[in-house]
Amino acid sequence: MRKDELFPEIEEKVEEAVKKGELSRRDALKVLAFASGAAMMGNTELFAEGNETNDSDKNATPKLKAGMDAKIVIVGGGSAGITVAARLVRADVKPENITLIEPSDKHIYQPGQTLVAGGIKTLDQLIRNEADYIPAGVKWEKDKAVEFMPETNSLKLASGKTLTYDYLVVAAGLQYNFEKIKGLTADMIGKGDIHSIYDPKGAVAMWDAMQKLKGGTLLFTNPATPIKCGGAPQKIMYLTEDYMRNYSNTRKDAKIEFMTAGGKYFGVPAYHDAVVGFVKEKEILTSFNHNLVEVKPAEKIAVFEKKTKVKVFDKDLGEEIEEEKIELVEKKYDLLHIVPPMSPVAEIVKSPFVNNKGWMFVDEQTLQSKKFPNVFGIGDLIGTPFGKTGGSVRKQAPVLVQNMIALMNGKEMEGKYSGYTVCPLITRRGRVMLAEFGYDKAQVDAKEPITKAMAMPSFPLDPAQERWLWWIFKVYLLPPMYWYGMLRGRA
Ligand SMILES: Cc1cc2nc3c(=O)[nH]c(=O)nc-3n(C[C@H](O)[C@H](O)[C@H](O)COP(=O)(O)OP(=O)(O)OC[C@H]3O[C@@H](n4cnc5c(N)ncnc54)[C@H](O)[C@@H]3O)c2cc1C
Repeated sequence: MRKDELFPEIEEKVEEAVKKGELSRRDALKVLAFASGAAMMGNTELFAEGNETNDSDKNATPKLKAGMDAKIVIVGGGSAGITVAARLVRADVKPENITLIEPSDKHIYQPGQTLVAGGIKTLDQLIRNEADYIPAGVKWEKDKAVEFMPETNSLKLASGKTLTYDYLVVAAGLQYNFEKIKGLTADMIGKGDIHSIYDPKGAVAMWDAMQKLKGGTLLFTNPATPIKCGGAPQKIMYLTEDYMRNYSNTRKDAKIEFMTAGGKYFGVPAYHDAVVGFVKEKEILTSFNHNLVEVKPAEKIAVFEKKTKVKVFDKDLGEEIEEEKIELVEKKYDLLHIVPPMSPVAEIVKSPFVNNKGWMFVDEQTLQSKKFPNVFGIGDLIGTPFGKTGGSVRKQAPVLVQNMIALMNGKEMEGKYSGYTVCPLITRRGRVMLAEFGYDKAQVDAKEPITKAMAMPSFPLDPAQERWLWWIFKVYLLPPMYWYGMLRGRA
């Protein structure tokens, strides 16, 4: 579909939804505002100041005059680092007081990797020059931070150079630990029958493989660690299933199985229940509590640790107790899609900023380090219970900037991150369930450790329904919103 054909069709669908009472006039206007931005793409910047009442405005960066002579260093120029830099500049921090450390000269729109693997976008469409997104005047150290010395407010770069700061933002993201799976190395991805959309070139290889599939056993794994975009392991499976069923007519000869280390599809019961329906309809099998631990590519065997609870009689207690039993299960495959175990990047894991599991230790709401008050963490590497998405970053960045500026001015930090995250779960080509969720409010109010998620829909529509409207959102509207809204500190 060409861009100029897109807008009238969206308008029609939105009008239809309003007539059916599925969408209020106000929300319809929001959708159309996104749509018109996407349709007019080019150099148009979305959400120009003063013409938007998007709910992100609730957290909008205050225009506090903050003395602003503090030196700020941002580690990582991915989604979070760039968004924070842009918002700091918009909040009147002098760009020359900000240094951004980022080793890569390319910026990739990672949520698009799923679409590349589904043959919907090309890899080229996701990649832009990092330099074009670093706000004018901000200093760019094209390097890696390798050592942190918070007691002297300083850090070392790989080049040996030392930088000092008054405030530090840690936004260095995650690394993929493919080698934690026995028999696997990162360079095996996309070769033979082993695939992963988490690697950008792997996403291209997955699309090639999908088109060649004739049937067989297809295994899609999900690891035991937190991961970026918890829905992506399912999205690629549904896109593959859809391709075989509706395009290549090979579905009848295939067995598709979701092999997940988790015990549910989603933490929010309504989303979990919706997925139970999708997988049933698609005749996909699921093995919960199965964690991929080894691959044997020559034999096309994947080995999983299967965890079960068993009742055993404890002689000392004289009663039955529950014990965890772990056994190894071997499965033959014709295609194996792997989501690797993930952790913050090595430089952060060994830094003084982390909790005992190696994740950046921050207050779940203010995003301030629990150890060093002039340090903040944002994005995938923070040790919050869920929410490793670009959607989370979009809600975290204004909170972080608001709090940092308050601190710089000796004021109370009032910004609070709600735990919001969004997973546009592609269920097939043309359909997406927009799973939005965040911290459980009851736990937040009771100041309990947050362990549960609750649904946080932005629109008054049943969020557990797959819809064409959210497909349009995911495929056509979110990318321009990312490049022109979020990374510019506007949305
Ligand atoms: C396949 C896939 C699908 C996804 N789908 C979605 C989706 O549908 N919706 C959604 O909202 N999100 C999705 N995401 C997640 C989203 O892309 C991430 O949550 C987001 O990019 C996190 O931003 P970040 O800045 O924390 O990390 P990143 O964007 O990864 O940036 C981290 C940056 O830090 C740099 N860095 C690393 N080490 C150092 C160092 N030592 N010093 C300096 N810099 C360093 C890296 O080069 C990188 O540029 C998806 C991701 C993937 C991979």
